[in-house]
Amino acid sequence: MSQQNWSGNIRFRARAIESPADLDQLRRIVTDNERVRALGSRHSFNDIADTDGVLIDLTRLNAPFEIDVKSRSAWVPAAARYAEIASAVEDHGLALRNMGSLPHISIGGAIATGTHGSGDGNRILGASVTGLEIVRADGRFEVLESEDPRFAGSVVGLGALGITTRVRLDLVPSFDVRQDIFLNAPWDEVLAGFDAVMGSGYRVSLFIADWGTDVVDQVWIKSVVGTTNAEAVLPAGVTAERATRQIGPIASGPTDSVTPQLGEPGRWLDRLPHFRRDAPPSNAGDELQSEFFVAREDAPAALAVLRTLAASISPVLLVSEVRSIAADDLWLSGAYGRDTIALHFTWRNDPDGVAALLPTIETALAPFDARPHWGKLSATGGGASVDRYPRGGDFRALVAAEDPAGRFTNEYLRRVLGS
Ligand SMILES: Cc1cc2nc3c(=O)[nH]c(=O)nc-3n(C[C@H](O)[C@H](O)[C@H](O)COP(=O)(O)OP(=O)(O)OC[C@H]3O[C@@H](n4cnc5c(N)ncnc54)[C@H](O)[C@@H]3O)c2cc1C
Repeated sequence: MSQQNWSGNIRFRARAIESPADLDQLRRIVTDNERVRALGSRHSFNDIADTDGVLIDLTRLNAPFEIDVKSRSAWVPAAARYAEIASAVEDHGLALRNMGSLPHISIGGAIATGTHGSGDGNRILGASVTGLEIVRADGRFEVLESEDPRFAGSVVGLGALGITTRVRLDLVPSFDVRQDIFLNAPWDEVLAGFDAVMGSGYRVSLFIADWGTDVVDQVWIKSVVGTTNAEAVLPAGVTAERATRQIGPIASGPTDSVTPQLGEPGRWLDRLPHFRRDAPPSNAGDELQSEFFVAREDAPAALAVLRTLAASISPVLLVSEVRSIAADDLWLSGAYGRDTIALHFTWRNDPDGVAALLPTIETALAPFDARPHWGKLSATGGGASVDRYPRGGDFRALVAAEDPAGRFTNEYLRRVLGS
């Protein structure tokens, strides 16, 4: 089995990758090895999943789906990819509230790193989790319920608290979505009506190909059919052309991997992600990514600062994306305690160029207390000290209590926990 992540910039140092078939095997692998780590679908861009011990691939684990239509909830395997989960719940007339930009990632990895979609009313994906089944460092199997005081610290858990085997999700009735794309929206108009633009759909993304121009290249509006602004119009005062052909976030890139656009309604699972479940996503792995979370009220100023860095950013940038996320109370969520704007960069596959630029970006965003995405590249390599989060100290204490001997620890955790 390949020992590298999706984008190929991280080679795992693990001695072995084990694929347990049942809970007993999994518990034995955990207790028999001094260092272990769960591996998801490998879509993180930093060393968060790495270990010098044994990586555990859960894709063969017997962890069944259990969908309860009456209570609109489902237990799903942690190794399941969002595409698989979406199809399973849609078959029962149910839906996930939101998805990330691609459906190829595993839910176990997504929630561990605070993965998010977008939308003023949508919290990060982990905010839909109501229960976790976990194998702890001592081999104990535990079901953690949302009422447990440790729960809010355990969803975005960085893989530090145990091996999650199943996740329980809160679901909603299935719905239809259309997506409409607008081109060349002038920055001045977008910034003047920023709240209205970001609130003009169920999910809204701004794509910026070059921070040095006067326009936001693309505004993507995903609207729930049958609700306000179901026709997907931009707010008054924002002038932009409605796209008349399919387009990818990287305008010159392939269009056959993106989900249907042009206002054509379809099921939520085929519109909420940007990328289709049956095609290779994004730039097919030939890219790197970083993302920073700022308080919503700071976004216009943070965007203005990034525009001043255009000359440094352009040589390594493929495309940027700006999204909104609703505040939550998950201790290590990028949106903990504040409505948030996410400032994302899809970079060229130029690790040295990106590493050289990230300190400049983070210094520029420091006045806004920008929090880096746990699964992407940051100035330290990946992540940031947990002390940057109001409940970071509580998370450190939780890790010490659940994994006193550091079975799940790795270099990444030593960096962000400061131990
Ligand atoms: C093309 C692309 C698009 C992306 N789009 C988005 C986006 O729209 N929004 C966003 O926020 N992020 C996005 N990401 C980032 C991605 O969602 C995160 O990196 C996420 O962690 C990937 O999940 P994974 O299963 O690949 O995790 P991995 O990279 O395999 O693992 C990440 C961490 O999760 C832990 N983990 C995995 N499974 C378990 C488990 N069962 N139990 C305990 N810990 C576990 C691992 O130990 C590791 O620490 C994108 C990434 C790519 C490559």
